[in-house]
Amino acid sequence: MPEGPSIVILKEKVVSFKGKIITAASGSSTLDFEKLSGEKILDFKSWGKHLLICFKGFFIRIHLLMFGTYLINDRKALQPKLSLQFSDGELNFYTCHVLLVEKEASKMYNWETDIMSDEWSSLQAGKAIAHSGKEKICDILLDQEKFSGVGNIIKNEVLFRASVHPESIADALPPDKIKELVNEVRQYSLDFYKWKKTNQLSRHWFVYHQKTCPRCRLPIKIKKTGKGKRMSYYCDNCQVVYELKNNLYEKNNIA
Ligand SMILES: [Zn+2]
Repeated sequence: MPEGPSIVILKEKVVSFKGKIITAASGSSTLDFEKLSGEKILDFKSWGKHLLICFKGFFIRIHLLMFGTYLINDRKALQPKLSLQFSDGELNFYTCHVLLVEKEASKMYNWETDIMSDEWSSLQAGKAIAHSGKEKICDILLDQEKFSGVGNIIKNEVLFRASVHPESIADALPPDKIKELVNEVRQYSLDFYKWKKTNQLSRHWFVYHQKTCPRCRLPIKIKKTGKGKRMSYYCDNCQVVYELKNNLYEKNNIA
């Protein structure tokens, strides 16, 4: 599933269509395609894993889900969910979720939670973890209302970098560790963007799809964790489990 930085890259690729008029729209989604014909694209925005195509008074939200793809000035045999035609080009989106929202995008989203936004607030992100009670950190980081744009790669790599076990409990995390985690989320997301653009992303995976911990040289564990049952890759030697015991957090680190 494309994570936040990949959607920013998509936004940059389609920006040449900003200001252009749609001459025809079609696809297998249930949008009112006639409404789009003749409309001018005012802007492209991204929020978390959503690409937003903005028009006067409404916007289209595209979520690429697990296997979504797009082609610019090109098409594949598969019928697109959404195809936008212009006098000098076309945009095609496949295997994705498309929604038309009759509101201004800027009024619908909180960009403070978007890991790639200039408006990102590390203070709010820290509060989101601190106020999550008994929730596991692996679920909190994937919560799109709290960390918009974090996917499984960012989750696993950030937890490793901060030496936090994915099944740690929010209430047991010390404030300094929360701060460190939040800073790692932001930094890894910005680095992810740079590495992805130069096809170097997988070189910067310490645990995701890896076999050996680069710190301990011990095998990486793989387990579905949290209520989301998403795959976690971690080292149980150097990633500390913060859990509640007698209302105090306790280091369960065997290193
Ligand atoms: Zn380790």
